[in-house]
Amino acid sequence: MKLDAKIPGGPLAEKWDKHRFELKLVNPANKRKFEIIVVGTGLAGGSASASLAELGYNVKTFCIQDSPRRAHSIAAQGGINAAKNYTNEGDSIWRLFYDTIKGGDFRAREANVYRLAQVSNNIIDQCVAQGVPFARDYGGLLANRSFGGAQVQRTFYARGQTGQQLLLGAYSALMRQIGTGKVKMFPRREMLDIVVINGKARGIVARNLITGEIETHTGDAVVLCTGGYGNVYFLSTNAMASNATAAFRAYKKGAFFANPCFTQIHPTCIPVHGDYQSKLTLMSESLRNDGRVWVPKNPEDKRRPHQIPESDRDYYLENKYPSFGNLVPRDVASRNAKEQCDIGKGVGETGLAVYLDFEDAIKRDGKDAIEKKYGNLFQMYEKITAENPYETPMMIYPAIHYTMGGLWVDYNLMSTIDGLFVLGEANFSDHGANRLGASALMQGLADGYFVLPYTIGGYLTGTTLEEVTTGHSAFKESITSVNDSIEKLLSINGKRTVDDFHKQLGHIMWDYCGMARNDEGLKKARGMVQQLKEEFWENVVVPGSKKDFNQSLERAGRVADFLEFGELMLIDAISRQESCGGHFNEAYQTAENEALRDDENFCHVSAWEFTGKDNEPVLNKEELKFENVELTQRSYK
Ligand SMILES: Cc1cc2nc3c(=O)[nH]c(=O)nc-3n(C[C@H](O)[C@H](O)[C@H](O)COP(=O)(O)OP(=O)(O)OC[C@H]3O[C@@H](n4cnc5c(N)ncnc54)[C@H](O)[C@@H]3O)c2cc1C
Repeated sequence: MKLDAKIPGGPLAEKWDKHRFELKLVNPANKRKFEIIVVGTGLAGGSASASLAELGYNVKTFCIQDSPRRAHSIAAQGGINAAKNYTNEGDSIWRLFYDTIKGGDFRAREANVYRLAQVSNNIIDQCVAQGVPFARDYGGLLANRSFGGAQVQRTFYARGQTGQQLLLGAYSALMRQIGTGKVKMFPRREMLDIVVINGKARGIVARNLITGEIETHTGDAVVLCTGGYGNVYFLSTNAMASNATAAFRAYKKGAFFANPCFTQIHPTCIPVHGDYQSKLTLMSESLRNDGRVWVPKNPEDKRRPHQIPESDRDYYLENKYPSFGNLVPRDVASRNAKEQCDIGKGVGETGLAVYLDFEDAIKRDGKDAIEKKYGNLFQMYEKITAENPYETPMMIYPAIHYTMGGLWVDYNLMSTIDGLFVLGEANFSDHGANRLGASALMQGLADGYFVLPYTIGGYLTGTTLEEVTTGHSAFKESITSVNDSIEKLLSINGKRTVDDFHKQLGHIMWDYCGMARNDEGLKKARGMVQQLKEEFWENVVVPGSKKDFNQSLERAGRVADFLEFGELMLIDAISRQESCGGHFNEAYQTAENEALRDDENFCHVSAWEFTGKDNEPVLNKEELKFENVELTQRSYK
């Protein structure tokens, strides 16, 4: 299938304005006639639901948690980017665009990224108007700090709780619309299928997680804002409920899945400390504004950090990348940490950690200043590790954190199923092969507050939507398939728990499709995942009933999807014979061990098409055209 990204013509800086003008409008009275389903209430779904309702559409919003404000977005710590240039360092929309395209290793669409940079400034204004308490400088202006891959300070933040504050803003806007009756909220629901009628997304099938009831809902369009799939690795910084089910089931109904192997490993997380751990904790990238990363120069050096003098320390990021220092992008910092540990210089009991040290910053700015900026993060670190980071350097190691891949969408954020829109981390759109820090919140809110509210109108006016009811045969088929799969899971009654399978899948993915990959390992992993999937359907035990609150059943469905999805990631990784951003195939590296792209053969988005159970998925390519930036080997030296 030829993928049409529907990128508007004209100069880059004018595309979005021109497109907004050319999009057909739905007049205010007609908006009331449309019903939109939004799945997810993180920053993308919360902002989209509130904005659509504000425009006059009738919205039905769904989420897994008991309250929309418990979406995973609430965990975001460090900040949100915007090109305001408050610090007078020479920032601009163009610079934010360029940094993001380069940070993504030239595997994102120019037009989308430019639009993201353009609307970044509107996001800050919108959030300030909502009362989001961004940090301020001494003169009262909003304060900024640095994030990786940029040489200007453009990250707006609310201590280490930026996601929470932004989500409370979106949640307030959403609750206002729930109050007016324009949004009908369905918490504790899990979408288990998309219903497609005559090629258009016309509804969903969801399970009520409290009563077990299977519900059906019609809509004129469906908007998925269901987050990322990092939990395919079992251990990640994502919330426990983050999953791939909604996106994967949409894929099975015809939505192409783009670049699934593009995953982000964050360099600064609290290292794994035991077999029974189910979650990893992020230490925000913002800490690298002041923290210095180092390891002992000598692998044999097992002294405590304070006993190691300056002359025996290797500040490897500062030494190797003098221009960006500790603030190189995440993929680069992660690979370097792994490299140090691989050569035996890792610290701590497992040797799988490096130091993040605040001693110099505390000496320079004082403990109070550091506490003001990062107090909650330091507290979190101390609670988990029982070490005081004001006195002893933090020990950190890379962990799975974000997924750049997602459902393929065009410039209007519509997937390959008409009327199915995908926003936030669930789509693949703006980050290429590596996401720069503080850009996910920006993208989620850009999609929900500023892009979808325009583009969905263009779709609704330009299409014919016949009346459908939940009695339609497509709904009945969906219900049958959802029920069959639930029954099957409950009937196996095997010997291994869902978590046990999930953990093993995570190990395979981390070992073979993690920070470094090679063809042999990826192929081996594919076989292992296939075997594990077979065993799962013969030997999993799912206690309890379907007519009740049953978290084992919920997790079983998600892990079943992860098992299939993990294989798709491996297929994608095998097919991309280059290294770029977070996808590091050891066969393709520069003399300095940096990712080596192959622009001649792989300057495209890989969009995978489902062709039936047990069939190989089909690869569709969207060629990426760079008309405004030159493709270069990324350098942060
Ligand atoms: C610890 C941590 C810190 C981070 N810090 C930052 C930061 O400082 N800056 C930054 O830019 N980014 C940060 N990120 C990334 C960022 O938080 C996420 O990418 C972003 O919040 C995702 O938002 P979202 O709206 O797309 O999805 P989410 O917030 O993940 O929301 C998903 C929603 O979908 C719902 N859902 C999922 N599946 C279903 C289903 N089948 N049925 C019904 N509902 C469903 C969930 O209930 C939830 O409401 C951080 C991430 C982590 C893990």
